[in-house]
Amino acid sequence: MGITNLTELEKLASELSPVDHKMPAFFMGHGSPMNGIEQNNFSNEWKNSVKNIPKPRAIICISAHWETKGSKITAMENPKTIHDFGGFPDELFKVQYPAKGNPMIAKELNTLNSQYPIALDHEWGLDHGCWTVIRHMYPNANIPVLQLSIDYTKDMNYHYQLGKAISILRSKGILFIGSGNMVHNLGRVAWNRLNERNYGFDWAIEMNQLFKTKIKNADHQSLVNYKSLSKSALLAIPTAEHYIPLLYILGMQGAKEDVSFFNDECVGGSLTMTSVKIA
Ligand code: ZN
Repeated sequence: MGITNLTELEKLASELSPVDHKMPAFFMGHGSPMNGIEQNNFSNEWKNSVKNIPKPRAIICISAHWETKGSKITAMENPKTIHDFGGFPDELFKVQYPAKGNPMIAKELNTLNSQYPIALDHEWGLDHGCWTVIRHMYPNANIPVLQLSIDYTKDMNYHYQLGKAISILRSKGILFIGSGNMVHNLGRVAWNRLNERNYGFDWAIEMNQLFKTKIKNADHQSLVNYKSLSKSALLAIPTAEHYIPLLYILGMQGAKEDVSFFNDECVGGSLTMTSVKIA
């Protein structure tokens, strides 16, 4: 897939002062919004995930919870904390994550590449797919955070290729985080077994294993065409919004980069928290 207009992105890259390290990229299984305020195995691993990496200049998060017609990037100075859920304790609604935005980076993405148009957004902010995870990684909210939306009109390969097109920013201090869940079927959750550690239905365990094998082998084409992976694929991914952030992150994997997994667990039978680091 050709990228026809890297010039502007290269210009941006040269404007940002270089960093010694290429930043890793993460896919985070976010699960319940309660993980945003709980100190548990999952949130501890999010915290640990950034212990030994350079301080990013900014974070760009692709969250399952922001779907739009056409891709958008948040372009405000001060993105608001969005509590996009219901039926949770007041404590969760009171959380604010006051990270700054970065309009300059938003604008550069906006003018990046006519093949992958990204519009400026001044309405959104940071939704729970973003802040419930990032507040454990950077509790001081001292790194600017932008969100890139998921264009629901596009196919899986588009998301994978868009991830590839913007991954050059990893070399300039931008930390990309895809936030979703690989296996995510809320209609099948075993609510009475939610507190049971690593409880997964057979099909969820099968798909979790299959996803990990394909990721480990860098068989990205199979993951883009996930519906052909197994009969269980449509149970794991009844709708694709929680899976798509993974495709952005896989698109960013360089030829010599490796993958590692953490939070490799099922929750409530039909979700997986399995998270991926590319570095
Ligand atoms: Zn979610």
